[in-house]
Amino acid sequence: MRITVLGAGLAGVTAAWHLQGDGHEVTVVDRQPQAALETSFANAGLISTGHAFAWASPRAVRVMLKSLFLRDQPLRLRLSTDPAFWRWTLRFLGQCTTARAHANTRIKHRLCRYAEQVLHELIATTGIACDQERRGLLYVHRTQESLERGVANMRIMEEGGHEIEVVDRDRAAAIDPALAPSKGKIAGGIYCPTDGSGDAHKFTQALAALCAERGVRFLFDTTVQRLETAGDRVERAVTDRGELSADVFVLALGSYSPLLTRSLGERVPVYPVKGYSVTIPMNGANGAPTIGGIDEDNLCAYTRLGDRVRVTSVAEFAGYDTSHRPADFRSMLGALRDLYPNAGDFSQPRYWACLRPMTPDGPPVVGRGRYRNLYYDTGHGHMGWTMSCGTARIVTDLIAGRAPELPLEGLTPR
Ligand SMILES: Cc1cc2nc3c(=O)[nH]c(=O)nc-3n(C[C@H](O)[C@H](O)[C@H](O)COP(=O)(O)OP(=O)(O)OC[C@H]3O[C@@H](n4cnc5c(N)ncnc54)[C@H](O)[C@@H]3O)c2cc1C
Repeated sequence: MRITVLGAGLAGVTAAWHLQGDGHEVTVVDRQPQAALETSFANAGLISTGHAFAWASPRAVRVMLKSLFLRDQPLRLRLSTDPAFWRWTLRFLGQCTTARAHANTRIKHRLCRYAEQVLHELIATTGIACDQERRGLLYVHRTQESLERGVANMRIMEEGGHEIEVVDRDRAAAIDPALAPSKGKIAGGIYCPTDGSGDAHKFTQALAALCAERGVRFLFDTTVQRLETAGDRVERAVTDRGELSADVFVLALGSYSPLLTRSLGERVPVYPVKGYSVTIPMNGANGAPTIGGIDEDNLCAYTRLGDRVRVTSVAEFAGYDTSHRPADFRSMLGALRDLYPNAGDFSQPRYWACLRPMTPDGPPVVGRGRYRNLYYDTGHGHMGWTMSCGTARIVTDLIAGRAPELPLEGLTPR
């Protein structure tokens, strides 16, 4: 079949790879000059199946309310007049019960376990170099109270078969020796030995190059303006460089997915949640984290990517604004420096901000909606690096008419 994939981020490029491997003639369209220049450009790099928690939970309601009154919080809720914001927020609030939080976390965790296997297989078979690290992730807690809460929350991952080790500060410093000088600042952590990290941008660009070698056609610098339909089929994508027809379309536009389907009467429940990311070069420093992790009390994710260290944080409701100022990064750099004072050259930060394509419940949207030949692979939220290879394979199975290896409960358009 002739398949056009809309979007060349993690979701679109992994979909193109699997679809081409399944024998289809694949075209990928993106408005950027290369793959992975938007949200997939500078994420935290964590392959964090052990942290597949749904954001919507009873605690999230308190955090959201607090953020309305306090500045410089990791969650920044700003009230908006955008109806899409209110639709999304109301649906999010509807998911903030303990029962829904658990159900959504289980769905995400199951998908992440499947997806990380597909990702590891893909890296092993292609030999893609992406600063991959497979020695686990350490979720660090500053206080005993926070550690106990973290351990209680982790039970759901353990029940899902995830390997975890609760560690005190000495064991944490043995796992990541770079923590040794500051171990007195933490109570301990939760170590997930099967989690890992890698550079999603390097991975996506290398995979796009391999796809191109195998005959996938990439149309960069091409903006998709609208989809045109006839009956229950999408006939063509209209771009600023002409029209594209195909037998099947795969929508992988991240946070921009709902903008394209709105005129078709399809509401994809995805809303942008802005995040900030800063990368510093190590420049010979010898105190960088040896494995990635999350500073749970400051809600910062950090990773070592080859000779760089990255820290990301903040969930901000700012519509489609991706602007940033140095002040936005102060807290997260402070938290990194507090734990890893010699992580790298803090005088050479590279700043970035981008939009997580969040669904209200947490799992991505995978599969077909009302149009027979339009498949969704979007809404990966804060976990698209971890999940994309899995959703790409599921979409490929669905297009081929095969039963996916994973139950679709909680993933299909809803
Ligand atoms: C700060 C931060 C940290 C993160 N950390 C992690 C992490 O540690 N682990 C993890 O698993 N995930 C993480 N994520 C999430 C992950 O980065 C995203 O889920 C993932 O990048 C989404 O990929 P995507 O392909 O759906 O979107 P994108 O990468 O945004 O790709 C969408 C593509 O569509 C293109 N596009 C949009 N509109 C149009 C149009 N009209 N015409 C043509 N092209 C268009 C864009 O140019 C873009 O290339 C993080 C995200 C953020 C923001």
